[in-house]
Amino acid sequence: MKKVKAVRAKEEVIKKLRSKGLKITPQRMAIIDVLKGDYTHPSVEEIYQKLSPRYPTISYATIYKTLETLCEIGEIIEVNIEPHKKRYDPFTHPHHHFRCLSCGKIEDIPLEDVAFPQIPANVKKKYGIMHATLYLYGLCPACRANSN
Ligand SMILES: [Zn+2]
Ligand SMILES: [Zn+2]
Repeated sequence: MKKVKAVRAKEEVIKKLRSKGLKITPQRMAIIDVLKGDYTHPSVEEIYQKLSPRYPTISYATIYKTLETLCEIGEIIEVNIEPHKKRYDPFTHPHHHFRCLSCGKIEDIPLEDVAFPQIPANVKKKYGIMHATLYLYGLCPACRANSN
């Protein structure tokens, strides 16, 4: 699975963010830059740590708000594989996620590798299912090799 998402022109992202009432500041642009091409599923804390040396005044609130809006406009997706820790993914093509219970690493699992369970029509209808995702947990190859 190649991670070639049709990279939207930055101007288009900016336009969409503006339409959501978000002011485009250098800090916000930096958040977009940090996320683009980062497929490690960074958390808010990780994004903050990457940005704070260059933008000492950046706040968690700014990061949260920007991420929330980027999710709303479909530019990134939220990954909730870890309890109480939202993670973010610029790869918006549908895919599953794996989390290593030892090192915490998160990897993308292509849909082709794990067939998605069919959601029966009556369930879909009853709950108005719009979206479903699979989270897989286990030990990554590196951690399994270490424990031997
Ligand atoms: Zn691991
Ligand atoms: Zn992902």
